Amino acid sequence: MAARVLDGEAVAKAIRLEVAAGVADLCARGMTRPRLAVVLAGENLASQVYVRNKIKACGEVGIDSELVRLEGSRDSGRTLAAVQELNRRDEVDGILVQLPLPDDANETRILHSLDPAKDVDGLHPENVGRMVEGAEGLRPCTPSGILELLKRSDIEVDGKRAVVLGRSAIVGKPMAILLLHANATVTICHSRTRQLAEVSRSAEILVAAVGKPAFVTEAHVTPGATVVDVGIHRVTNEEQAAELFGRDSRQVAAFREGKNLLVGDVHARRVAPVAGALSPVPGGVGPLTIACLLQNTLQAARVRRGLPAHR
Ligand code: NAP
Repeated sequence: MAARVLDGEAVAKAIRLEVAAGVADLCARGMTRPRLAVVLAGENLASQVYVRNKIKACGEVGIDSELVRLEGSRDSGRTLAAVQELNRRDEVDGILVQLPLPDDANETRILHSLDPAKDVDGLHPENVGRMVEGAEGLRPCTPSGILELLKRSDIEVDGKRAVVLGRSAIVGKPMAILLLHANATVTICHSRTRQLAEVSRSAEILVAAVGKPAFVTEAHVTPGATVVDVGIHRVTNEEQAAELFGRDSRQVAAFREGKNLLVGDVHARRVAPVAGALSPVPGGVGPLTIACLLQNTLQAARVRRGLPAHR
């Protein structure tokens, strides 16, 4: 039996409609639209695509946006100055510093310099502390999006055994904490975990955020488990495409025609026959990350206008 596909596009669309209604509600109250500023330092090509998509998504729900492009920036100086300027500007509700930053930039220092009220990626220590406490605040977009995906796909989390592969500050750790608050029993795995496949097989919900293409196979998945694939990687050669999708697949044919192919941290062809549900790449977690960024920007705008965080 093939796993049920967790449709990230459909869930993201529902969230975007809610955000658009929330923006309309602010306007109906005579308040200004929310405004998001995205800071992009350096020349990372993937980041340029992600930022373009985020700016476009803002326009679609009525959120104003601006891009602060710091080309040629290598260290922290210009990024810090840009964040401080955006902190000062009252009309800016949300600030997103696109990661990864250039090698010589001090990521911690830059994230700590954000106004926590405008920190729409939920990475400032004040927001991290609030998340750990379970208090209201801005939550990291990717793990929030994954919880929305589970909730709106009717996947019960309460009481389930969840395993998170990866412990980054942006995905793994906050994912584990949000699952814990949703009453899952949570295990976090990382590069030093022993018998990782065996630990993974204990999961009823398995979240893969290891940053390694097709890392998770059927050996990591217990029959019927829900598998969420956070990874995004570009397929680089035809041999890899054939191994991932099958030599006669439409994906390999598309690759030969020069189309870009993406793969996650999960080997979907090998995992789908075992898992109960699986998020695809693309069309799974990616659209939800953007939808939750919009949700967070609306939330920041509401709080900054003296309204409750949520309608
Ligand atoms: P990251 O910072 O590179 O963290 C990777 C984590 O995986 C680390 O905790 C690392 O362990 C662990 N790991 C690496 N190799 C491992 C192995 N062989 N066995 C077990 N654990 C291993 O990555 P990230 O920022 O969390 O991102 C993870 C993936 O999600 C990437 O593919 C990224 O592109 C993708 N992503 C997607 C979205 C989206 O919107 N869809 C958003 C963010 C990230 P150690 O801590 O021990 O080194």
